[in-house]
Amino acid sequence: MAEKTLFEKICDKEIPATILFEDDRCVAFRDISPQAPHHILIIPRKPVPRIGLAGKGDEALLGHLLLTAAEVARAEGIAESGYRLVINNGPHGGEAVPHLHIHLLGGRQLQWPPG
Ligand code: C5P
Repeated sequence: MAEKTLFEKICDKEIPATILFEDDRCVAFRDISPQAPHHILIIPRKPVPRIGLAGKGDEALLGHLLLTAAEVARAEGIAESGYRLVINNGPHGGEAVPHLHIHLLGGRQLQWPPG
């Protein structure tokens, strides 16, 4: 059996994290190194390594992650002011943890284009 990813360990509460929401398919927790006043990661329990490796069978899961991100943004009180959802994929995308995660960033004016 493959070793658990860091984020699988967070899902299984083997590594501490500030969890804001969880259900049978996903977990949302505060990023340990926030890049904005609100910086939350939404991850699937299923260890999909990155969006580029998600498959047809993951369609409903991906939709659930996005809707959960929007729900968490509402719960954080940043739905009206606005926020950004980011998925980093691979080396040039800046991916550091090989377990699919959506960054939810808000609480300040974000710049465009991103660096
Ligand atoms: O998209 P990327 O793979 O670069 O993002 C990984 C994110 O996971 C980083 O923002 C990092 O701060 C976060 N992280 C975390 N808790 C950990 C390890 C990493 O929130 N224990």
